This record gives sequence, C-alpha cells and structure tokens, in this order.
Amino acid sequence: MSVDLLPPTTYSAVSLDVEALAEGPRFVRTRGMSRWHRPRSGTRFPEGRVLFSCWCGYGVGGSERAGAYLGAEEPPAGEPVCGTCEGRAAGAGQDDSPTGRLLLFSPRNAAPPATCPASRSDAYEALPGGRVGRCLACGDMQPLRAMGGPYNPRYAIVQHPTGRALVQPCPFHRWRQLTVREGRVLCTCGREMNQ
Ligand SMILES: [Zn+2]
Ligand SMILES: [Zn+2]
Ligand SMILES: [Zn+2]
Repeated sequence: MSVDLLPPTTYSAVSLDVEALAEGPRFVRTRGMSRWHRPRSGTRFPEGRVLFSCWCGYGVGGSERAGAYLGAEEPPAGEPVCGTCEGRAAGAGQDDSPTGRLLLFSPRNAAPPATCPASRSDAYEALPGGRVGRCLACGDMQPLRAMGGPYNPRYAIVQHPTGRALVQPCPFHRWRQLTVREGRVLCTCGREMNQ
C-alpha cells in the first residue's frame, strides 16, 4: 500500500522528462539512516533514479533497481521513526494521527492562490465588444484595462479572485509560471496546465 504524495514544488528549472510521483511508500529510508522517514513528495528522473523529499527535510532516494533505498508500509518492530515526519504527515492529512489527537500542519504551496495567477496579464480571450475577457487560467469573465504607458499600451485582464475553473497546476511550479502560447495555458517549463 502507498500514500498520496504532495507535488514536488520547486523554484528550480525541471526538464520535461522528469516525473512527479503521485504516490509513494508510507515509510522510506536509506541503509545508512538511523530512522525511517515519511515522503512528502517524490520525483522520478529519466535514468531510473527516484528522490523522495521527506516531511522533515531529508531526501531519500537513488536507483530503484539497485535497492538504494528501502520502502515499508510499516517499519519493523523496534526500528525508530522520525518524529518530525510522523507529526507533519499526520497533521497534513496524509495519514492517521499516531496519538489519536487532531494534529494540524499546513504545508506551504499546496493551496490554489486567492488571487488568480493570470491577473494583470494578457492570458485572456477577448469577448465581442473588447471590454470584457474570459480568463484563460480560471475561466471567469473580467474587465479588460489598458495598462502600460502611452508609448507601450497593452490590454490586460484586471486583478481578480481565482475563479472555480482554475487550470491544473504544474506539479513542480504550481501556478507561479503560468503563460499562454497559441491559446494554450502552459507552465514556462513546458508542461500543459489545461484541464
Ligand atoms: Zn524525517
Ligand atoms: Zn482568472
Ligand atoms: Zn512547471
């Protein structure tokens, strides 16, 4: 059995052949580690290497075939588990609370932004009349405004709250690098963000 992983959010560039893992083992460790950790997110690289980022900040991974890391549904009796990983994983809702108490931990970068990421950009489809556009990121209709100076005028969709039909996030860069090419919504890393 496996657990659902969070997206492996990063500010770094990620090439298109790198894959975000949606699921991973409940517990992971390398042979040299003194305790089991819990993966928060996982990434698979094209040469067959996997990296799990754990809730405490440790990275666990290596070649899948070479058995560079161990995965477990339940650690063998008596083997210690990282307390930071155990508490944060339960507090974020990845697994049941080990104490029975309600634990809360709010991971950053997981929730959609309150302000639409296409605000004040040209990521809109103009509607007849030219005063209102359909936001290509969230689907809402919003006014268009002239922005930029008199020598560099451009139209942009106004700043607005994120609508209900927000496009799927890039697993690595979320909605931070949203761009539009030929009517398609993409992350600047090249991954499709359309529903
Ligand atoms: Zn840990
Ligand atoms: Zn929008
Ligand atoms: Zn991206």
